[in-house]
Amino acid sequence: MAAAPKSTAKPLYALSAANNLMGLFRMDKARRLIIAGNWKSNKTNTEAVALVTDLIRDLSTVKEVDVVVCPAFTALSDVSRLVLESNIRLGAQNLSDAGYGAFTGEIAPGMLRELSVRYVVLGHSERRQYQNESDALVAKKAANAHANNLIPIVCVGETLAEREAGITERVVETQVRGSLAGLTAEQVEATVLAYEPVWAIGTGKTASSAQAQEVHAFIRKVLASMHGEAVAKRVRIQYGGSVKGSNARELLGQPDIDGALVGGASLEAKNFVEIIRNAI
Ligand code: PEP
Repeated sequence: MAAAPKSTAKPLYALSAANNLMGLFRMDKARRLIIAGNWKSNKTNTEAVALVTDLIRDLSTVKEVDVVVCPAFTALSDVSRLVLESNIRLGAQNLSDAGYGAFTGEIAPGMLRELSVRYVVLGHSERRQYQNESDALVAKKAANAHANNLIPIVCVGETLAEREAGITERVVETQVRGSLAGLTAEQVEATVLAYEPVWAIGTGKTASSAQAQEVHAFIRKVLASMHGEAVAKRVRIQYGGSVKGSNARELLGQPDIDGALVGGASLEAKNFVEIIRNAI
């Protein structure tokens, strides 16, 4: 595919690093929490506007956490206008590995930038499964995101069969290395990773906090072997998989869990707000 146009604007990760310094940290972790709602293929534009209006009202005082909503592409424009003056940031659920051009059905980075989209979810297990997205494609998309000042949220995670076969670490390591291949240390540091065990997504089954922490610590070890301890310590790693108000505090209290990627429970303002309130 054609090379993406490069932007000369200040990278958003530089902005977010500055925000981190000025923002509030939890006392025990140097990484700022990031909680993102992945609305998937749910919510019409009208419904998305109603949901984000409630979130803006209910979360207006939250300063401790980066809150992100990722509506469907059809709702990005209206949601963008609404969140502009709020503390909620906008994410998209995918990105082309190319720029503008003859790529029917694809969304180029510039289209998202114009709507003040800051994050893009990449390599979600549903796209890996239903659209056959490979680690190599995810890596190309992640590079395209960084080249255009978008922050990728790169998802990895094992299936139930892989966990039961005892190959969770091997699978996750392959995905982390493959999906971040070719990124610079600075780009990796600015990337958000999401550990999402496939067996916990949308199933109501959550990894125990110990299971999740174990894999998060392992991912950080892999990142350290790729780019050094200092970079690994700064990468934010979200947990995803049936996160809800009742388990958020315990999961997000783990030393290597820096936030959550939330599917089902992000579709109702009350549930998403409860997760954020319990995480602070
Ligand atoms: C997800 O799809 O990213 C996810 C974590 O979904 P759920 O919270 O519904 O398990």
